[in-house]
Parts: sequence; C-alpha cells; structure tokens
Amino acid sequence: ESLTKHYGRGTGFLRKTEPAVRAVEDVSFSVEAGETLCIVGESGCGKSTVARLLMRIVEPTAGRVIIDGVDIAGLKSHALRAWRRRMQMVFQDPYSSLNPRLTAGQIITEPVENFERLRRKQSQALAAELLRKVGLAPDMMHRLPSELSGGQRQRLGIARALALQPSLIIADEAVSALDVSVQAQILNLLMDLQQQLGIAFVFISHDLSVVEHIGHRVAVMYLGRIVELASCEALFAMPVHPYTEALIAAAPVPDPTRVRREVPVEGEVPSPINPPSGCTFHPRCPIAVERCRIERPPLVPMADGRVVACHVRAPALDIHAECSRKDA
Ligand code: SF4
Ligand code: MG
Repeated sequence: ESLTKHYGRGTGFLRKTEPAVRAVEDVSFSVEAGETLCIVGESGCGKSTVARLLMRIVEPTAGRVIIDGVDIAGLKSHALRAWRRRMQMVFQDPYSSLNPRLTAGQIITEPVENFERLRRKQSQALAAELLRKVGLAPDMMHRLPSELSGGQRQRLGIARALALQPSLIIADEAVSALDVSVQAQILNLLMDLQQQLGIAFVFISHDLSVVEHIGHRVAVMYLGRIVELASCEALFAMPVHPYTEALIAAAPVPDPTRVRREVPVEGEVPSPINPPSGCTFHPRCPIAVERCRIERPPLVPMADGRVVACHVRAPALDIHAECSRKDA
C-alpha cells in the first residue's frame, strides 16, 4: 500500500529537500491466495526494489506491506521472523543463489532447520518430499549444485522456497537465466504448485511472453510507478497506457518457446535521479499533450476493472465505457 523507496540525498541546493533516487513511488497492489500478480517493465523501473520492500530486505521510505491483515513494517525482529516464514523468494540466478558447498538436501532443508532442529531421518524425509514436489528424484539430495543443470538448480531453489510452506512466493526474474525450453517447464511447475498449494505469487519479469504465460494480473511499472494494472487477458488484448502498448507492440509473439523478447521502446529510460516532470513517460510518449509535461496523471479506475495513469487515454476510455453502459 503506497510503497515508496527513495535512496540517498540530492546534491547541491536540493540536498536538504530532494532524494537522490526515487526508486519506487506510491506503488499499491494486492495479491490473493492462488493468484499470480506479475510486475513488468524495463530494467531500472523499480521492480526488484518492490520485491525487496515486500520481503523487508530494505525498509520503505513510506507505505505499508500488509499480509493477512498484519502490517509487517511494524513488526520487530521476533515477530518479523515468524512472518518471514510465510514469504519466500526465488531468485534469478540459480547458479549464484545456492550455497555451492552444501548438498541439495542440505540446501532445501536449511530454511526449516533455521527454525527447528530436525533429526537426520526427518530432514532426509523432508528433502525427499520437497524434491519430489518439484519433479526431481529424491536421490538428488546427495548432489552438489555444481552437479546439477540450470533447470534442476532452479527446481532446487523452488523446493527451498517451498520448505517453509509459504503463503506468498516472490520470484524475481526466476526464469530469465534459463533456456527457453527449460523456462516453460519451470513456469508450468510453478503453476502446478500454485494450484496444489494455493500459493500467491508476485512474479517479476521483463519478459512479456513469460508474463502472459503465468500471470493472472499484471502491473506495468515505469520509473518507479505503476502506470497500468489489469488482468492479463485484458492487458494483452487491449493495452491502454501508451507505455504498455509500446511494450506489447515491441514483443508481438505470444509463444514462450520462441526467442526471448526484451522490451525495447523508442528512446532511453530517463534517470530516476532526475525524472521528467508531469507524466514521466512524456519524453517517449507518441501521444503526449501539453498537460503531460506539467501534471502527473493519477491512476484512474476503468470500467473493466483496470487502473491506468494517462491524461489522454484514461478519461477517454472511461467516457466510452459510461456511454456504452447507458446505451445498453
Ligand atoms: Fe503519454 Fe501523456 Fe498519457 Fe503520459 S499522460 S502516457 S505522456 S499521453
Ligand atoms: Mg531487477
């Protein structure tokens, strides 16, 4: 709710009043049990900072993270530890996020052993069960990460995340380092696990084909802000924000087995150190009007349930929706 993260202080006469980097500005969203909310955008748009804020790896400048009605920002170490069990993270790089000196079995039971002592038999049984859950043979528990393939390592990372039976998994570019064919397998595994276990996912990706495959709803971020949040179907069928439109136009192939698609849009992402005035997308926006340079567009709810921040598109669409409802 209204998550904001600023880093550092400005320079010169701005030093007292202005933050140096506005990494995340006023980001709000919800995610239900069994639902996947994707966060998409070019690199540097604040996606990973949102993940770190949710996990409380970094403290927000403002805003709250509420899980099952509890604001975790207010929790102190002991209570926070208990809540941390319910949120787990899967990282981009299975090669560097797993301790190379531990066996697969030790890696996946370690989170549980941080909370309770397990007998050897218990931890082996747990490791076997978790390995089976992610489609790996139980005897893999004796192997080292270096003896596994990239896909197997990412399955291991997922097994580790599942060990504490979390209600929320945050996946930051969880399949980006994998070959496309392996990507599809891992995405399908995550979807199966979600169906079985009712886990909520916050799935962060720059890759629209991945998002389309796994997402229920999608939040599009630009320079630290959500500019459009819609159901996956609605977003891909009819993007409303010009930035969403540009992302989808630049990535027209909905088949995840094809070449990985980056999301090029005309021009560079401006620096979050000195973001453009008004709508921060205006220097790159093909339909910008005078007002866009001056006034920041608020997120406006549309008739189909999505929210969009655009002076030109959001009000126009709303009026059409109103008219057609009246006609009906
Ligand atoms: Fe483009 Fe203006 Fe809409 Fe921003 S508010 S996306 S600049 S039309
Ligand atoms: Mg990132």
